[in-house]
Amino acid sequence: MKAAPFAYVRPTRLEDALGELQAAQGGSGKVIAGGQSLVPVLAMRLGRPSILVDITRVEDLTQMEVTGQQLRVGAAVRQRRVQREASQLVPLLGLALPWVGHREIRSRGTVCGSLAHADPSAEMPAVALSLGATLQVKGPKGDRQVNAADFFTGAMATVAGPADIVTSVTFPVARPDEGYGFAEIARRHGDYAIAGVAARVRTSSGTVQEAVITSFGVSDRPQLRDLRGSLQQAVDTLGDPAASVTDLAKALEGPADSMAEDVVTTAGDSHGTPAYRRRLVRVLAARELARAYRSSLKGTQT
Ligand SMILES: Cc1cc2nc3c(=O)[nH]c(=O)nc-3n(C[C@H](O)[C@H](O)[C@H](O)COP(=O)(O)OP(=O)(O)OC[C@H]3O[C@@H](n4cnc5c(N)ncnc54)[C@H](O)[C@@H]3O)c2cc1C
Repeated sequence: MKAAPFAYVRPTRLEDALGELQAAQGGSGKVIAGGQSLVPVLAMRLGRPSILVDITRVEDLTQMEVTGQQLRVGAAVRQRRVQREASQLVPLLGLALPWVGHREIRSRGTVCGSLAHADPSAEMPAVALSLGATLQVKGPKGDRQVNAADFFTGAMATVAGPADIVTSVTFPVARPDEGYGFAEIARRHGDYAIAGVAARVRTSSGTVQEAVITSFGVSDRPQLRDLRGSLQQAVDTLGDPAASVTDLAKALEGPADSMAEDVVTTAGDSHGTPAYRRRLVRVLAARELARAYRSSLKGTQT
């Protein structure tokens, strides 16, 4: 099947891109960034936009910069560039990006495009939620700063309107007392996750200050849960801050199991039943939380 006919423009100024979207009848214009999700949608005729507004030549959107303790990634910045240049600054991006499709897909796909697409099984929305990222959105209502926690409203649904452009996303640069874990299960490497988790832990002298797990692929949008109390209790029970990841993960299985019961809300599909997804979340969450705790103590990723 081929895409239905559409017009195509590639402006170099953000104002022109916004103008083209606003001029499209009844919100029928679509931003195209890397095209890695949109082109298959068009080819299958799941969408029939009247005009595609290519934002990859808009100079303002091609920038990636660090200001203070924030990394700002423009909407035209490809995933592969972020993986290469920002993995040290924001280690959770470095852990998650290799799971996004394949290298060729990441060479074209953008981080902002993945956020705007809001696939419930995608890695970038989970990372953005876990880190408390902020999206900059520009459109007919003016400029808005939207927290990742408020951005995703359902499967493939966000607060961005049809004439809005997500112009950039801002991630906090990692602190030395933070540690991270990330893992997912997919049928083949490069496929979307059946279930996955991102873990973020902050400690001070071995005491847990923050511990969150963000699960994805198991609900209509990524789900963040606070496991600080459970992690501290597991560490206290083991009585050894240097306990191995395996021992700590075992001690975390109970809380991870309760969390999995809570976050897995998808119906079963050909990739797995809800019970299977709960099991995956339990195992991955316990292990990645333990890993994140250990790496927060060392100040390095394990
Ligand atoms: C074989 C294959 C495997 C893949 N596997 C994975 C995977 O495992 N995990 C994963 O997360 N992704 C995967 N992807 C998708 C890939 O990561 C995409 O790059 C990403 O989902 C969308 O980014 P994009 O820049 O290509 O956006 P596009 O495809 O250009 O756009 C996607 C949607 O977002 C909108 N959009 C894009 N940018 C903006 C913006 N700045 N403002 C407003 N709206 C915008 C578009 O209008 C469109 O609706 C895969 C793709 C393929 C083809």
